[in-house]
Amino acid sequence: MAEQDRCVRCGALLSKDETALTRKLINRGATEFFCLSCLANHFQLSEDILLKKIEEFKSMGCTLFDP
Ligand SMILES: [Zn+2]
Repeated sequence: MAEQDRCVRCGALLSKDETALTRKLINRGATEFFCLSCLANHFQLSEDILLKKIEEFKSMGCTLFDP
């Protein structure tokens, strides 16, 4: 069974979108990941905006995200 990534800040289990978004926003080679709400907190953005960003990156064909 593959080990699922957890948010380094709050320990929440992460979706692929969340790990991909961390890579996109923080560092492509990131080895520590954040959940959506911790990312929102970190960047002082709302979770809604981050969800829209995920959709944006997907529509741009970013390969970090699942199609
Ligand atoms: Zn978190």
